[in-house]
Amino acid sequence: MSHEPEDRPVPQSPRDLELRVNPIACDAHGVCIELLPELIVADPWGYPLIRPGPVPLRLQALARRAVADCPTLALLLAERPAGRPEAARRQVRPNR
Ligand code: SF4
Repeated sequence: MSHEPEDRPVPQSPRDLELRVNPIACDAHGVCIELLPELIVADPWGYPLIRPGPVPLRLQALARRAVADCPTLALLLAERPAGRPEAARRQVRPNR
């Protein structure tokens, strides 16, 4: 009996969090951009553009503060879904 290593995603940490913004609720106050320039920048109209991916541990306290200080409650800190595939693999078949 052999055990081949399986090619599956590395389990997510329970502390893997990501920032999300509700674009309907956001009024472009810019509070989050001032608090967390490492992860949030302004688009040309002042609305936040959030860097995709998990919030680094060293920035999670600031991220929580940005969420709490958002005047319209448009910013959310949520757990990243577990098992999110890193990259889809494609099988390429030659055309016949
Ligand atoms: S603090 Fe809230 S309302 Fe202001 S830009 Fe950020 S998400 Fe939008």
